[in-house]
Parts: sequence; C-alpha cells; structure tokens
Amino acid sequence: MTYTNNYSNEIEKIKEHIKNADAVLIGAGAGLSAAAGFEYGGNYFLENFADINEKYGYTDMYSAGFHDFYTSEEKWGYWARFIYLQRYKEGAKPLYKRLFDIVKEKDYFVLTTNVDHQFQLAGFDKNRLFYTQGDYGLFQCSVPCHNKTYDNEKIVKEMLENLKGGLIPTDLVPKCPVCGKEMAMNLRADDKFVEDEGWHRAAANYSDFIEKNKDKKLLLLELGVGWNTPAVIKYPFMRMAYQFKNARYICINKGENYIPEEIKNKSIVIDDDIETLI
Ligand SMILES: [Zn+2]
Repeated sequence: MTYTNNYSNEIEKIKEHIKNADAVLIGAGAGLSAAAGFEYGGNYFLENFADINEKYGYTDMYSAGFHDFYTSEEKWGYWARFIYLQRYKEGAKPLYKRLFDIVKEKDYFVLTTNVDHQFQLAGFDKNRLFYTQGDYGLFQCSVPCHNKTYDNEKIVKEMLENLKGGLIPTDLVPKCPVCGKEMAMNLRADDKFVEDEGWHRAAANYSDFIEKNKDKKLLLLELGVGWNTPAVIKYPFMRMAYQFKNARYICINKGENYIPEEIKNKSIVIDDDIETLI
C-alpha cells in the first residue's frame, strides 16, 4: 500500500464517500478511545493507584485489572476506582461528539469493542450500537447463574465514598441477587461473559442493518482497530468490502497501513492520528 504524508486528497475523498454513502457502518476499536484522550497508564495510573503500584508494581490499569486480589474488599476497591474513572467521571469526549456530528444525518450503525459507553454519551442512538465486548457500567453474576446484566453506577459510587486504604466495606461487595455469589464485570474476558437480552437485540439490529444495506452504497469506516481481536471488526469489514459490490472501506489507525490486494481499489487507509483527521 502506498500512502503519502499529505492526506488532504484522501480526506477530500473520504468526505465525498461519506456524503454519497447510503449508509455508514462505523467499526471502532481501542485506538479511537485512546485518540479521544482516555488514559490507562503512566502518571495517570500513579495519581489514581499509587497504592497498587507500591504493593504490586503495576504501571497501568489493564495489567492491574488481571491481578488476582487476595480479598474481595481489595479487588472491588480497585475496580470501583477503575470503573468510575473510565465510565462515570467524565461525559462524552469531544472526538466522539465530532464523529456523531459527521454521521448523525446518515443511516448509520456502530460496531465496537470499546466498553467505555462513549458512543451513547455522545448522542449516538442506542438502537444503532452493538457493544460486542460488554460495558464498564454493567455487572453480571460471576458464575453466571442467569443471563442478565445490572447497572452499577449507584453501587460503584457508594463503594468509592466508603473506600478506605484501598478497601471497600465487606457489605458493599456486590452479590448476585439470584444465587448470592459475587458479581463480576460484564466484560468479555472468558466464556463466562453474559450476553443478555440487550446484547442479543443489538446483534440482531446489526444483522438487519447489514442485510438492508449490503447492495447499497455502504461505507465501512474503521477507526482505531488494532490486531488484538481482528475477528470482531477488521476481518468482517474487509470481507464485506470484498463481497459487497458497492461497499467502500476506510481504515484510520495510527501505525496501520495494511490492506489486502483484493480490496485495494475500493479502500483508503490512513496511518495517522484519528483526532487530527476527524
Ligand atoms: Zn448468580
């Protein structure tokens, strides 16, 4: 793939594609939220998790999230801070709002692996969103004994208010209302991920959107999708670009310049910061 350091031509082309498209399918990965300003490591981590850094040596929120905490009080003391910072502390980031402005008049749909709820906060219609990997704002049973998810805003804020020395009080450890076992984050980490009614409805809405638009001028707009889980967004987008005659594929991601030969003539790939480009 050849590309130039001057993207103005490509940006003009992308604008034309968006204008002319009958429908826009956004595929969004971690790179979009990183470009929007979400932080997980460095000073940000040290400011909020100095105790965790001191005790266990972690320097970022992702790695510490995999720690096998010895007590539930300490584990939820960690997660309450994590969830609050990434999900409740701030509203929609400007980058997400600008993205919404670009597509709001179009027939659009969003497929995302991001779990920070930014699309909804920015005004995207929840019937046009499919969060495949969960949401920081939801709990589920850790077993799981039933397929339901629960909003965690109230309890997370309560945990934070009562946090002492990195621990939450024992009576705030969240318990499943059905079996009494501990709750867990509704994040796809293993085969215990609960796909609740809302998840299945979103999956069906996504299929309907594809079915309705597969022969139309469908613009596949991939933003910040890396190679961690290519089977969720990247491969399906490339496959659709190949199979649907009128589809176009646009991929914007820092450090990305790969495009299969078969779809080269209907694709634009830009290796640059998403925020600048949007
Ligand atoms: Zn349960």
